Amino acid sequence: MRIGILGGSFDPPHNGHLALARAALEHLALDEVLFVPVARNPLKRFRPSKASHRLEMVRLMIEGEPQMAVSDLEIRRGGKSYAVDSLIELNMARPADYWFLLGADALKDFASWKQPERLLHLCRIAVALRPGQELEPVLRAVPAELRSMVDLVPMPPLDISSTDLRDKLSSGKAIARWVPAQVAAYISENHLYGS
Ligand code: ATP
Ligand code: MG
Repeated sequence: MRIGILGGSFDPPHNGHLALARAALEHLALDEVLFVPVARNPLKRFRPSKASHRLEMVRLMIEGEPQMAVSDLEIRRGGKSYAVDSLIELNMARPADYWFLLGADALKDFASWKQPERLLHLCRIAVALRPGQELEPVLRAVPAELRSMVDLVPMPPLDISSTDLRDKLSSGKAIARWVPAQVAAYISENHLYGS
């Protein structure tokens, strides 16, 4: 089995996350992409929305996607979420070939992750460029001897982030273009992000 792990705050999840998952399925010939919402991102200062909301929004977003699933393993573990801990757990529970999927903005912090070398014994990294980014400077965050563990996932650039969406929602702007309809409905029914 070839499995991609897509970690993130998903606060809220959006079409950029879906596009990354689809591109990885295709270009890495994965069997599955597993979305893993963090309990807390150790590198983010702001508290995320309630885990139950983020989990439910991801579940709604991937409903009807046969090769996508969501796991609450980091939310159940609680505290700061580290990729290496999750990959250890996943490799034990379900031995497979794993790729940790990310946007290049997230790879820039690679050196400050917990046990980055150990992580690269447990999975490969697959990185997609976000608009305006180039691969070379992004790869410099990864020690030279580990760069062969990084695969590029080509995807059409989608200029959207959860931060943009939270801003749009709190100022009453429409987000329908950027999130699946089920997610937009959940946000408005639950009055999330000041909507
Ligand atoms: P925030 O603005 O809150 O950081 P985000 O849109 O970056 O939100 P995250 O939950 O932080 O979303 O992202 C999870 C993963 O998805 C990260 O690796 C991030 O780089 C990647 N990602 C998010 N949006 C895109 C996008 N538009 N294109 C490519 N990758 C993306
Ligand atoms: Mg982000």
